[in-house]
Amino acid sequence: MSRIAYVNGQYLPQSLAVVPIEDRGYQFADGVYEVCEVFDGALIDEPHHMARLERSLSELRIDAPLAGSGLSVVLHEVMRRNRLTNGFLYLQVTRGVAPRDHGFPQKPVRPALVVTAKSIDPRKGEALASKGIAIASTPDLRWKRVDIKSISLLPNVLAKQEARDKGCYEAWLIDEKGFVTEGSSSNAWIITQEGKVVTRAADHAILRGVTRTTLMKLIAELQLPVEERSFTLAEALAAREAFISAATNLVMPVVMIDGHPIGDGKPGPIASRLRGLFHAAAEKTEWRRR
Ligand code: PLP
Repeated sequence: MSRIAYVNGQYLPQSLAVVPIEDRGYQFADGVYEVCEVFDGALIDEPHHMARLERSLSELRIDAPLAGSGLSVVLHEVMRRNRLTNGFLYLQVTRGVAPRDHGFPQKPVRPALVVTAKSIDPRKGEALASKGIAIASTPDLRWKRVDIKSISLLPNVLAKQEARDKGCYEAWLIDEKGFVTEGSSSNAWIITQEGKVVTRAADHAILRGVTRTTLMKLIAELQLPVEERSFTLAEALAAREAFISAATNLVMPVVMIDGHPIGDGKPGPIASRLRGLFHAAAEKTEWRRR
């Protein structure tokens, strides 16, 4: 089945879906995005994704692309038209199409909206989680407002590629003081030898992951000790367990950092438990029911 994309008001076969060359996303990376998981026919944590999108747009003074529940209708329609059961929705909003000029367009333009769908086989993620992943650390070269989910991702792209070149799955970004900020496309977590779950506080130096937010709720329900604070690479290397979180990976155990095994070098019990309980803790909206 060919994939159907939503592009500025139209549902089109993805191979025919195009945007104008003066879209400010293309010219300046002047836009924001969300990646939402679809699991067992349900859109996962839609309200959190919508709230974060609204915040990213407002921080960059980009108008909402559609009024009211219009965006939710489009997301569910893209799911329906792609018969998406397991996979992801990608949505991107840019400031719109205007003659190239760094400043905002002088005449107001409509924000541009693109939504695409990708189907995945969830067994692949489970197979990876049962082995665990390797991390490579690298300096965090990003700007000072990475709490905004901007499409300007060049440092993330370079960090991910550096990790891949080293045979690793993800990069952990290290700030100027030696603290881990987050992954190139995920949040970073450790479990200390005392059993405390630690992740960096959601300030301007990390993206507040939707998966992170749901995990925080789950961790509270399970009454696990948790600390939102910065941790160093040395602390991560000495941790009992480590993992990453993202809509695309859920909870993915880390078994190696910079060639050093974490814990006993196998996926840890707490990370695996959180992964197993994740979908039960998340909010689900289903396209089939609409
Ligand atoms: N941090 C960064 C830099 C990301 O790109 C992502 C996801 O793309 C995350 C964290 C995790 O966010 P979420 O859990 O909402 O997918």
